[in-house]
Amino acid sequence: MTDIKSMNIEELKELMQTLGEKTFRAKQIYSWLHEHLVVSYDEMTNIPAKLREKLSVYPITSLRIADVQTSKIDGTRKYLFQLADGNVIESVLMRYKHGNSVCISSQVGCRMGCRFCASTIGGLTRNLLPSEMLDQIYSIQKETGERVSNIVLMGTGEPLDNYENLLRFLQILTEDGGLHISQRNVTVSTCGIVPRILELAEEKMQITLALSLHAPNDEKRQELMPIARKYAMDEVLDACRVYFQKTGRRITFEYSLVAGVNDSQENARELSDRIRDINCHVNLIPVNPVKERSYQRSTRQAVENFKIKLEKCGINVTIRREMGSDIDGACGQLRKSYMEKTESEK
Ligand code: SAH
Repeated sequence: MTDIKSMNIEELKELMQTLGEKTFRAKQIYSWLHEHLVVSYDEMTNIPAKLREKLSVYPITSLRIADVQTSKIDGTRKYLFQLADGNVIESVLMRYKHGNSVCISSQVGCRMGCRFCASTIGGLTRNLLPSEMLDQIYSIQKETGERVSNIVLMGTGEPLDNYENLLRFLQILTEDGGLHISQRNVTVSTCGIVPRILELAEEKMQITLALSLHAPNDEKRQELMPIARKYAMDEVLDACRVYFQKTGRRITFEYSLVAGVNDSQENARELSDRIRDINCHVNLIPVNPVKERSYQRSTRQAVENFKIKLEKCGINVTIRREMGSDIDGACGQLRKSYMEKTESEK
């Protein structure tokens, strides 16, 4: 099957040639798909009916909104989308003063197994296509009529475990002729797949790399994240150094605070020793309790003290503002509760 929405402009030109069409049609079709966000060939009014007919064998992906929840506190919207094959994925729209940010999923499920994360509990079902990653943004922009200016890949899935599709998605998202979102406004979050971080660095894009660290040493990290048994923290941090050298982009370290596990003053001191030389920023996130897991979030005071300690050691740090705290909680939980519901109805 040819997934037309996952094609870049060059591939679309080739397709036009194969179909015996003029290559300028590629640009027109690309613009309909990625700028005007149409969901059918019928909407492509400057494309001759005969060509539209020929194209009808190439389905255009689109998502069905299965559920939306809106926060009464801050207007955050959580979307549950159904894919063509019936799988469901989650995306979140966050409205900030500086613009709208969309958090998207990169896979259906995840195989990384982080202990505190709800998205990985059922394992990995499949990778998302570039078009399916784009569709999350396109659907939200269409549904709200509001422009999206920031994209974070922090939904379900490990983006670097779906690497080829991720690159293609980033290309279509940021290049001219589509939504043309600035690379600087895109963040890719990873649990730390070292060879892929190094590959991504070679692309020399201006995207932000967010590294899920969550621990100050290998022992603690291995307790929370199975991937840490594959790549030592030193290797991960070295990959971050390379990423900065190649791209000039400051690294974001994500650190979810779990009560009694990684939130002590000693943990903060050890962490700052390890990352002091890296041009970075630490984002502290009080862990969202997941009902299948026993982890508890750190107290407000512990979070504040952790921040102060890092600051004293000269580290840039912020506490992640919680968005949409009144709607279906943490990452992946809307999808999970939906799946549990449909499961029990069977
Ligand atoms: N797989 C990628 C991106 C998806 S998760 C990654 O690991 O970075 C996005 C972020 O949310 C990661 O930092 C992840 O560790 C964190 N996260 C997952 N579950 C969480 C929870 N219950 N509470 C707080 N942070 C969580």
